[in-house]
This record gives sequence, structure tokens and C-alpha cells, in this order.
Amino acid sequence: MRKSNIQVHVRIRPHKPSDGPWREDSLSLPSNRTIVAISEKGRAFTYPLSHCHDTDSTQSSVFEHVEPLLDKVLEGTNATAFCYGVTGSGKTHTMQGTDSDPGIIPRAVQALFDRVEELDDRTTVISFSFVEILKDEVYDLQDASNGSGNSGNRRWSNSGPKAEQRRKLDLRTDGKGNNTVANMQTTVVSSPEEFRDLYNIAAATRKVASTNLNHGSSRSHAILTLYVHMEWEDGSTQQSKICLTDLAGSENNNLTGNDAERMRESSAINKSLSTLKTVVDAINTNASRIPYRDCKLTRILQDALGGTAAGLLICCLAPGNKFTKDTINTLTFASKASQVENAVSTNERTARRVSVAPPAARPSTALPGARA
Ligand code: ADP
Ligand code: MG
Repeated sequence: MRKSNIQVHVRIRPHKPSDGPWREDSLSLPSNRTIVAISEKGRAFTYPLSHCHDTDSTQSSVFEHVEPLLDKVLEGTNATAFCYGVTGSGKTHTMQGTDSDPGIIPRAVQALFDRVEELDDRTTVISFSFVEILKDEVYDLQDASNGSGNSGNRRWSNSGPKAEQRRKLDLRTDGKGNNTVANMQTTVVSSPEEFRDLYNIAAATRKVASTNLNHGSSRSHAILTLYVHMEWEDGSTQQSKICLTDLAGSENNNLTGNDAERMRESSAINKSLSTLKTVVDAINTNASRIPYRDCKLTRILQDALGGTAAGLLICCLAPGNKFTKDTINTLTFASKASQVENAVSTNERTARRVSVAPPAARPSTALPGARA
């Protein structure tokens, strides 16, 4: 077990005309480990962080900082990387990216397969799960059956599902205090290309479901988990995972619209992100009770917040004077999160031979013991 602080980064996305005026000196990076922000009242706040990516940063330069997490995963340690920030600040760009400019998720999958190919002392199976949390309910983005479990048919009908008609998944806590999503689909993939095709279908599901609710996908938290199951010649096995999370927009949702549905969503987003902040504060003040259980997001992220996983938080910032308040809020959260210490530990390597479905198995196959 090794004590290790969550690595906290910021990434400032390039300015766009739609951002409106921007006083460029309101955000500056005196070093790549320090960011200074000027508040609306003209006060300068300095935040020392693990790394600051400026507007010229590339997907590849950001990904360099994720690679060490993948090495840890192959040593049997769990890891979590998550993006935080207001809607439009670059969370999905950073986490998912586009076909022509891929983000952390496709790069991590490619890098895992590349690394695994180099390992000739073990057999490795890579699988993934992909869920979203919307209004404090967990939905399986691989679940295309519109309410009746895993059908194997991964496509929605043309009109798409009503978000509320989807199957809601429960969270369970095992004897060791690990939170797992019950009945979630875990799919074995044998190549980055196969992953990409399945991921794109699931990501489109998130979009369709959220469009039916008349809003962008920025109102849900999306949690992709990659599982690595390793088996050595002596039959011993080890499992680890990396959880890659694109959080809902952290803007003040009380200000967005006033219809009842929107307000319910807003309060759920506010509650989950404010619980996230409360959890961080509770950890930092050594509180006797850490309120992980107050919402599903913090239960799922528990491992990364004062738990045993290696953690990387990327706080995304949108340039533009209208975002100043949000920027200070995001950086305040970043600064608090950077104090959180995890007791990073390696998962047990078990000597018992566990039968695992071969990578070529189709359709989706649940791995024994795989958890979210
Ligand atoms: P969020 O997920 O935080 O709501 P997005 O990732 O969707 O924000 O980004 C909003 C817009 O800004 C998108 O059009 C995206 O392509 C663009 N964008 C975000 N970050 C960058 C970046 N680092 N470089 C270029 N474009 C970016
Ligand atoms: Mg987004």
C-alpha cells in the first residue's frame, strides 16, 4: 500500500467566438504546475496543481499523463481518471475526443492492447462496461433492450428510448466495502477496433436517450470502465480496472430553465456534484463520516476518493469572461481534491485458476468478478 495524492490537472480549451469576450490575463500559467485566476472582483488566486495544460495542449500531450495509470493497471492496481468542469469546457473532448482527434478513452484502449501484446508472461483479457448516471439512477449504455435486460441487440429503435423506460441498475456493496453495479453488462473485446465500434454504439445511446429528454448529454455522468484480467502460466490470476469518467456539467444548474423535469435533473446534478465536493471536504478534514452513500456518483467513485485506486482528476476550463465564476469554483474544487490522499494498493493475485471466456467469445460476455 502506498499513500498517494490524487493527481489534479487543469486543461484550458482554446477560445471560441461563441465564448464572448475574454480578458486573457484572467487566467495565466506562471509554470506548468501553477495557475493564477483573476476573480470577478479583480482578486488573483493562485492554485498549485499537478499539471496545467494550456490552450495549445494536444490530446496526445494530455494522454502522456494517463499512461502511468495504465502501467499501474497492468501491475494490478485500480485507477480512475475523471473530467470535471462546466458544460462546454472540454470534458468530452478530453475524455472521448473525435475520430480525427481521439481523447483519453480510445488512446487508453489502444495503449492497453499495445502493452498487453508486449507481455509474454501472461494471458490477458480486456473487457469494458459503460454506464451513465442520470438523476441519481444508473443506466447501462450497452443495454439496448429498452427495459428488459441484455438482449444482445445493441441498437435502439429509430425513435430511441425514453430515458426513464430504461433498466435502472442497483448498486451493491460487497463485504470489502467495494461498490459494484449489479447486472451491468461487461463486454470482452479483442482489439481496439472492436472496442471502438461497440463504444460508438453505446455513446450514441447516451446521446439519443438524452436528446429524448430535450437536452445534451452534459446532464449525465458517463462512466467507462476497462477491466484487465491477467492469468499466468501457474494459474494465478489478477484483475484490475481503470475507470474513465466524464462528469455532468458543474455550472449552477439552478439557473437553467424552470420546467419541472429540468429542475428535477438540475437538483440531481447539483446534489451529486455537491456530494462529490462534500466527500472531498470530509476526507480533507478527517471527518468521522464520509458521505459516499449520499449519491450513486460518489459510491461509484469511492475507490478514487480516499480509496485504494490511483486517481487523476482533469479540471476543464472554458475561456471567456462569462465563465469567471465557474472557473474559480472549478479551481477551488481542484485545489481541494489535490489534497485527497489515496492508499493505493495492488489487487490480490489469486492462485486459484478461474475460467475466463476467451477473447473471441461473442456476443458480450461477463467476466467473473468484474466490477464497476
Ligand atoms: P463538455 O463535454 O465539457 O461539455 P466538450 O468537450 O463538448 O465540452 O467541448 C465543447 C466544444 O469545445 C466542442 O466543440 C469541442 O470540440 C471543443 N473543444 C473542447 N476542448 C477543446 C480543445 N482542447 N481543443 C479544441 N477544441 C476543444
Ligand atoms: Mg460533454
